[in-house]
Amino acid sequence: MTAYDPENIFAKILRGEIPSTRVYEDDETLAFMDIMPRGDGHLLVIPKTPCRNILDATPEQLAAVMATVQKLARAVMKAFDADGVTVQQFNEAAGGQEVFHLHFHVLPRREGLPLRP
Ligand code: C5P
Repeated sequence: MTAYDPENIFAKILRGEIPSTRVYEDDETLAFMDIMPRGDGHLLVIPKTPCRNILDATPEQLAAVMATVQKLARAVMKAFDADGVTVQQFNEAAGGQEVFHLHFHVLPRREGLPLRP
């Protein structure tokens, strides 16, 4: 397992060094809008503590992040009058991960409307 890099983009977002559109925050987690949304309401949920991906996450980090994912999945269902919600997560480059700080995508979905690539 590669070590956590504190210079990754989401660590910089957490430190306020680069901008993001924050939509939710508590003691353990932060959520912000994805900069290249694959659909309306596409947001990301991350833990505030260092964590590369699901492979090195602690049970406490996962519990906190998933509680926020559920809260925001319910919120976007209402806010976007969605028919469903997709929760997506990638691990390591071969697994599709591009930013190496644990994050979950939350994407409200409408019937018959595919995600943008
Ligand atoms: O594949 P992975 O989930 O690691 O992709 C990173 C995601 O982070 C992309 O959806 C990208 O649009 C998003 N991102 C962002 N803000 C940044 C950099 C990346 O929302 N400053």
